[in-house]
Amino acid sequence: MLCDDVRRVVYFFLDGSMGDRKQSEFRSHLDDCPDCETRTAAHRRLREFIRKRLSPIGAPEHLKIRLSASLHVSAE
Ligand SMILES: [Zn+2]
Repeated sequence: MLCDDVRRVVYFFLDGSMGDRKQSEFRSHLDDCPDCETRTAAHRRLREFIRKRLSPIGAPEHLKIRLSASLHVSAE
């Protein structure tokens, strides 16, 4: 696996939607390549940050309130 490949598939890796074989290629590239390792770690932190900010009562709850408000209005 090359650095370009790592950049292209990093989201699949972090999602856990990468096949086992690809995943081990990915990991072994990170072992050899500090640049990709650092970049992957940064992506992972960003994802965790976003997930914490959005869950569990972020967007969905807000959406529910807006939805019920708009249903109420149209029922009148
Ligand atoms: Zn690399």
